[in-house]
Amino acid sequence: MIKLAARVGEVPPSITLAIAAKAKAMKAEGIDVCSLSTGEPDFDTPEHIKAAAKQALDSGKTKYGPAAGEPELRAAIARKLRNDNNLHYQPENIIVSNGGKHSLYNLMMALIEAGDEVIIPAPYWVSYPEMVKLASGKPVIVQTDASTGYKITPEQLRQAITPRTKLFVLNSPSNPTGMVYSQGEIKALAEVIVDRDILVVSDEIYEKIIYDGAQHVSIGSLGQEIFDRTIISSGFAKGYSMTGWRIGYLAGPIELIKATSIVQGHSTSNVCTFAQYGAIAALESSQESVEKMRLAFADRREVIFELLDSIPKISCIKPDGAFYMFVNISKTGMTSLQFCDALLEQQKVAVIPGIAFGADDHIRLSYATDLGTIKKALERLDKFVRHI
Ligand code: GLU
Repeated sequence: MIKLAARVGEVPPSITLAIAAKAKAMKAEGIDVCSLSTGEPDFDTPEHIKAAAKQALDSGKTKYGPAAGEPELRAAIARKLRNDNNLHYQPENIIVSNGGKHSLYNLMMALIEAGDEVIIPAPYWVSYPEMVKLASGKPVIVQTDASTGYKITPEQLRQAITPRTKLFVLNSPSNPTGMVYSQGEIKALAEVIVDRDILVVSDEIYEKIIYDGAQHVSIGSLGQEIFDRTIISSGFAKGYSMTGWRIGYLAGPIELIKATSIVQGHSTSNVCTFAQYGAIAALESSQESVEKMRLAFADRREVIFELLDSIPKISCIKPDGAFYMFVNISKTGMTSLQFCDALLEQQKVAVIPGIAFGADDHIRLSYATDLGTIKKALERLDKFVRHI
């Protein structure tokens, strides 16, 4: 019997990945499964990005590179943050890692010590609390609900802060709720963060996927005091449909980025060298394909929202960003796991139980898939709910 490290004993596997894998396995067996599970755009990576990576591969970009990322990519990210987000970083303030998830994990390893508290508003993305636990920290979950659009209020944040609080996790647009914090809401949170002198990590991976004139405001752009306490986490997976490339990044204070580079230098080293050239092309060339995908998500959002609205016993708020519908199932009397298991079993529709996001009376539907699948899945969901 192998005695495993206690830290893994406390951490369950990722439910988002497990359900997506189950749906894929059922499909491979020939079962007609509709998967609205993982947040993975169905579009292929744009051609010009693939061409840049292929060219880098052919021209010998096949060796180890600097652990923190290719200098050209760090410079391109610094330019992007300046132009898009009004954040004034130098390339030295940037570290490139193996996806947004890895960026956040490295941050926790470099920052969090035993007993440090990290404030995470629920519903939260599945891996935030687990990463904090893997770093021996204590996730402090602050529950939010539909009455505030699933957003933490400044009062709630202030109340959750203790002398052990080190970090607050902000995610806008949000996975799983799709909510976007307004400039005023972000400003009010920034005031608490500065006043109580804690740090904030702002996960902005969905910033490009936003609807109906909603604005993405990067918290660090609101003034020097909040900028000094902000770490940005983002990546290429969602906006550029590059999920499998595994390229994410952090931007933040230099001493923290240096510490994160040490963690990365002793664990994974650099992200696949030639893949980073695809990321440079993504940032430095036309953003037309990003807009095209955003418009397709916007169409799907209208369709899925209308279909959900016509189903009894379930309800949801129309999201402002990302590609998820976060659906309240409390009137069905089922837990989210019971609901999702039965839906997959009876109607062959895969969705994610809200328990993965700290909200057991909800389920998450991803509409990062084609309209045909969305319509078929919703027809089946309708049938399922009417028979409960
Ligand atoms: N972030 C995506 C999701 O929430 C991908 C899966 C994952 O990394 O957990 O579905």
